[in-house]
Amino acid sequence: MAYQQKLFLSRPEETAQRNNMNEENILVELTEKLKSTQHLDKDEWISLFDGRKKDQGNRDIDDYIGMTAREISVEHFGHDVYTRGLIEFTSFCRNDCYYCGLRSSNKNAERYRLTKDQILECCRQGYDLGFRTFVLQGGEDPGPFGNMTGDEWITDTVRSIRSGWPDCAVTLSVGERSRDIYQKFFDAGAERFLLRHETADPAHYRSLHPASLSLENRLRCLRDLKDIGYQTGTGFMVGSPGQNSECLAEDMLFIEELQPEMIGIGPFVPHHDTPFARESAGTAEDTLFCLSALRLMMPDALIPATTALGTILPDGRERGILAGANVIMPNLSPVSVRKKYELYDNKICTGEEAAECRGCLERRMMSIGYSIVVSRGDHPRAGRRY
Ligand code: SAH
Repeated sequence: MAYQQKLFLSRPEETAQRNNMNEENILVELTEKLKSTQHLDKDEWISLFDGRKKDQGNRDIDDYIGMTAREISVEHFGHDVYTRGLIEFTSFCRNDCYYCGLRSSNKNAERYRLTKDQILECCRQGYDLGFRTFVLQGGEDPGPFGNMTGDEWITDTVRSIRSGWPDCAVTLSVGERSRDIYQKFFDAGAERFLLRHETADPAHYRSLHPASLSLENRLRCLRDLKDIGYQTGTGFMVGSPGQNSECLAEDMLFIEELQPEMIGIGPFVPHHDTPFARESAGTAEDTLFCLSALRLMMPDALIPATTALGTILPDGRERGILAGANVIMPNLSPVSVRKKYELYDNKICTGEEAAECRGCLERRMMSIGYSIVVSRGDHPRAGRRY
């Protein structure tokens, strides 16, 4: 193959090109080491990210890592793609993260809460469409929901979904709580939890969040979730303001240490009503590169091709699957609220009904030789199976 041949170029006058080749060689070696040991040291991660950045004009290493990650993904999951029905149930949030359109100080954000009946209706439709996992995602909303606190309401709603659709998994993505509350959600039947760590670098974390939030507490939450027995997901935004190769190296090392079952990454996309309105978005290439690196480090993890990736690149989700992802998360929220859950600008899939989204993704996956499966899509090592 052309790329492998290029590594053996030997004409002496091609020094510059050879230096470039040496650089590429190192990147290939690091990729091979990652693939065979599922580990890189911090300085190796930095060399991989820096080396690739230096060589912006040359996409060979991206193709190489992408292809290698795709092979690993196919080895573990074949050409099956798991789906999760995403229900964005509240746009209220007590936090003020600098990057997020739902931040509490965004007075232009439209706030809504779905009722339990609306959520159960989403599940009914979703079940008929073949979903066997429902993800309840929202801002950190203390409520009240009717006469209940936010946490009581979540517990009650999880219980209702589990008793209505016992063969379906419920995933929560509702932010930071005490261990005690996480345990209550788990006892009510939530078996999975998504909580991106956002960045594992303390100074970078500080620059993305207000003083009321801390990396320490975020990590405490993740460790509690794992300890309770949730299939736990974490992750980060690619290209968030201030992120450098060292931050990414720390993200990788943290993920390796935590051993989450799920890893969600997507590009940072600016939102016009946040302090980061004028920052540039992360790129699809960087996101796909990180995604492939994660697949090599965690061969059997559940990794979605995210909506944010589909937002910055029309075939972003297909490209994500081809770079090693194996999950997609179509939106099941009622169309009337879709636009109000505006984490970032130009978010896709805000106008279509659930059935259209599902059909669209089915076609997209088929176009690249993959198919959506009707399955809870548990992690291969998860204790409880259906
Ligand atoms: N309140 C929940 C859910 C947050 S929204 C929680 O704290 O976990 C889910 C994810 O969207 C966040 O974790 C963040 O990584 C991502 N997100 C938020 N704003 C974004 C932006 N501007 N661009 C890209 N992703 C963003």
